[in-house]
Amino acid sequence: MTDLAPSPVVLDLPRRPAPDAARLTDADLVRLADEMECAPAADVVAWAAETFGSSLTLAASMTDGVLIDVASSVAPGIEVVFVDTQYHFQETLGTAEAIAERYPIRLRVVWPTTRPDDLWRTDPDACCNARKVLPMARALQGRLAWVSGLRRVDAPARAETPIIQRDARGLVKVNPLARWTDDDVEAYIAEHDVPVNPLISQGYPSIGCYPCTRAVAAGEDPRAGRWDGTDKTECGLHL
Ligand code: SF4
Repeated sequence: MTDLAPSPVVLDLPRRPAPDAARLTDADLVRLADEMECAPAADVVAWAAETFGSSLTLAASMTDGVLIDVASSVAPGIEVVFVDTQYHFQETLGTAEAIAERYPIRLRVVWPTTRPDDLWRTDPDACCNARKVLPMARALQGRLAWVSGLRRVDAPARAETPIIQRDARGLVKVNPLARWTDDDVEAYIAEHDVPVNPLISQGYPSIGCYPCTRAVAAGEDPRAGRWDGTDKTECGLHL
């Protein structure tokens, strides 16, 4: 992943957030989420870009390029953070490179501060914290808001995901795809010829690090291949 240099994209966002961006209250966010519940995803990103300017970041898992396709169409130059845990499948790294080449984004790859180890075997929560949560927290320092690809159909714990919310750090978290179904995603990918991680067609509907992800059988819960054999269901980025 060291060859994934930041894309040379001219920032096309307002450099400063709107004057009231940092003063949005929780009540404001609830009202905005309600107002944008049925808005197209691109409109939600456009609102976020206009409101937060270069204090907005998009977090990408590189499962597919749908969110980046949507976001870069209305906010070219948007910063995209990819957390390289050092345990990604080669297919995921390849998807990241394909997306960086195709879209007008400023890709920022962040790494953990620890070398590869065996912590995932003994304490996956601590491993996810060191390799995902902390690097993402560093990437979000100084930002007011971030965009995620969370969808309500991903998992029961995500079923109530609002379009806009306050996260545990106090940042505004924008979830433009929250309402999207799997059919919506597939249709968008086909219509826009979006890059997709090739592992999806090999039985990996949910893709994490290779030590903690297995292929699932037809009809199995799409996230059953994540941390199989444990009661862990989330890495912690979205808790
Ligand atoms: Fe570690 Fe597995 Fe979490 Fe990746 S998914 S950070 S390898 S515990």
